[in-house]
Amino acid sequence: MHAIDIIRKKRDGAELTTEEIHFLAKGAAEQSIPPEQLAAWLMAAFLRGLTTAEVNALTTAMRYSGEVFDHKGLGRSTVDKHSTGGVGDSTSFLVAPIAAAAGLAVPMISGRALGHTGGTLDKLESIPGYRTQLSLREARRVLDACGVTMIGQTSDLVPADRVLYDLRDRTGTVENPWLICASIMSKKLAEGLNGLVLDVKTGSGAFLIDPVTSHFLAALMVETGERSGTRTAAVLTSMDQPLGRFAGNWVEIWEAVDLLRNQRSPITEDLRELSLILAGWMIYLGGKAASAEQGSAIAEARLVDGSAFEVFTRMVEAQGGDTRTFADPGRFHTPKFRRQFCASQSGYLTHMDCGKIGWAVQRLGAGRERAGQAVAAHAGLEMLTKLGSQVEIGQPLCNLFADDEASVAEPERLLTEAIEIRPEPAPVPELIGEIITTENKNRFLEPPPRT
Ligand code: URA
Repeated sequence: MHAIDIIRKKRDGAELTTEEIHFLAKGAAEQSIPPEQLAAWLMAAFLRGLTTAEVNALTTAMRYSGEVFDHKGLGRSTVDKHSTGGVGDSTSFLVAPIAAAAGLAVPMISGRALGHTGGTLDKLESIPGYRTQLSLREARRVLDACGVTMIGQTSDLVPADRVLYDLRDRTGTVENPWLICASIMSKKLAEGLNGLVLDVKTGSGAFLIDPVTSHFLAALMVETGERSGTRTAAVLTSMDQPLGRFAGNWVEIWEAVDLLRNQRSPITEDLRELSLILAGWMIYLGGKAASAEQGSAIAEARLVDGSAFEVFTRMVEAQGGDTRTFADPGRFHTPKFRRQFCASQSGYLTHMDCGKIGWAVQRLGAGRERAGQAVAAHAGLEMLTKLGSQVEIGQPLCNLFADDEASVAEPERLLTEAIEIRPEPAPVPELIGEIITTENKNRFLEPPPRT
């Protein structure tokens, strides 16, 4: 087989065989196909799209391109949650320990900050000592002891995605439902899951802003998961404003610790509500509840009785983290520079460009511009108001945290552009949208029109 023939075939719009797709994924993992040929194929796939059979073949080939988790002898169903990327989204720190406290095992493999979206690994590494780079054997030990482990991709896990993702990042081929589906699902299925819930973001802060494309992506991922024997559901959720109170690294751990300790505030209620819905689906898909609603009730009970916080604390300690910082997380928040961002006029908060707010958080130092760059643990943003609120001129809307004053200028400009205040109120997008399961997925599996 020759890579050039496969590129030309996709370029001309024909469907590839399973063998051809396996040849490409193997060539990516072993780096036996040169990057320029892989990049050309990615662009052809981006422009032409893939059939459902091709996506399934690509996902399977990438999933088995390296090691996979082996859960023999674990004695619990395995479940996970994955988000397509958000701003201020700290649901992982709530749903993973909640599901473990409900008797499930959660082998969560997460990523780093990407573009304007935050990264679970960067947030966890803001806990002094926390190790995200465990071998699969070490991760299994933590999973046995705590029911949950939260780690980064190892060098042996889904190597084809690492190569292809890096090329996509550099060739403008990220924002594509077929390639996103194969990338996310290959990693999630390599975890060897019984159940998976996907949080598919829509709106101004999502990678795929168009709702038709988000619904299609969600249905494609449900189809791919179910075909591989993992019970899968997708919840479409609004990313039209940052979730909860904070966006950044340590600040999001602080927020999760507060919620795990039942310290609630009106500004964190959206984060709590979404976490209970996602955890409810994990508990249902993992076989510990008769419905997702019953799963959410169990999730709330495990949150309120403190067992989820106990699991989270044990997992952080098992991975080397210093949980003394949890005693008073606000005191441990030590950015070198703080500034308030205030309303330039009176009126109603009618719209936020949440993508721009995400970029503001990245430029404050919480994200990175190049792979491998360090991030600032205490950089970030505190939201003081939410969409729909009435505000007065001069009223503080956000607090900005950075390592130096110079890092604040661009975020301030981005926030000025991102936050809209109008004399009249406007409807606030619903947090929870469509829920796509194996029962209704076919309604959304029509590929979006190509532009
Ligand atoms: N996250 C992933 O892991 N892959 C994508 O393609 C997009 C988001």
